[in-house]
Order: sequence, then C-alpha cells, then structure tokens
Amino acid sequence: MVEQRTENPCVGGPIPSWPTIRSESMKVVFLDVDGVLNDAVTTKDLMNDLPKKDHLDCLKMIIDATGAKIVLSSTWRLFPGARNVVKSALRTVELEFIDKTEELRDRASEIQEWLSRHPEVEKFVILDDEEISGKFPNNLVQTTFYQGLLPEHAEKAIKILNS
Ligand SMILES: [Mg+2]
Repeated sequence: MVEQRTENPCVGGPIPSWPTIRSESMKVVFLDVDGVLNDAVTTKDLMNDLPKKDHLDCLKMIIDATGAKIVLSSTWRLFPGARNVVKSALRTVELEFIDKTEELRDRASEIQEWLSRHPEVEKFVILDDEEISGKFPNNLVQTTFYQGLLPEHAEKAIKILNS
C-alpha cells in the first residue's frame, strides 16, 4: 500500500525556520479634521461642516495602500456630535476610526501618550495642518488649513507608512 503523503507545508502551521510573522504590528494614521478633511477654501463653519469628498478620497488612498488604522487626534473627537459627523463621513468611503487620543495639554503629548499604550505600532503618520511642536519630524505630514489633504500629502504618508 502506498503511504499517503501528509506533509503539506500549508497545513499544520508555519515551518519552524520561518520568521515569526508579527501579526500584532500595526500602522496608524493620527487624523486631524479641520485643515485635513476640511479646508478653508470651501468650508465656512469648520467645526460643523461636513468633511469634503476630495480629501476623504485622499485619506482612503492612504489607508488602501498601507492598511493603516485611523486614530482621531482632532478636536472633533471631544464632542459626540462632531465625532459622529466624522464617523459618517468616513463611512462614505468605507473607512472607520478605531480610537481617539486622550485630552492632554497639547496634541504632541496626546499622540505620544496614545503611542505609549500601543507598542504594537510599527509605523505612523500624523495628518495635521499644524506643526506638532517638532516632536515627530519624520511622522508629520503637514497639510494647510486652506487646502486640506491633497494627493501629494497622501503620497508622502504612504511612503512613510510603507517604508
Ligand atoms: Mg487642524
């Protein structure tokens, strides 16, 4: 009787010599809203107006290309109504945020605090129209309050996250 070959490398878990896959590693986008998903050119009332489709599409491009998770760092996170507006807007491009930063003395500290609780984060970018006090020079993708998130920012973010 011919013995059935049973050792299929796809069955029974990884071969011991394979490098361990760091399934817990993670990429994160810290997301500001005004000056990123909204812009001053088209938006009258920044804290209340809906995020703009063009900017949402650029964010979508970043997430699709990198698999990063979104963490809200914008002031919008602090108000349930505003948070829901962001949530609905993200849903229109099939995105969602997984968390928000705590409220501390400034945005850089808030981001640093969130990162300290998530050592699984391998790469991150901060999308913000404001300088984040120079603490994260290699992670900040700075947009402008006037124009918001543009394709060139998306490309830069993807480069950082996939580097
Ligand atoms: Mg802003």
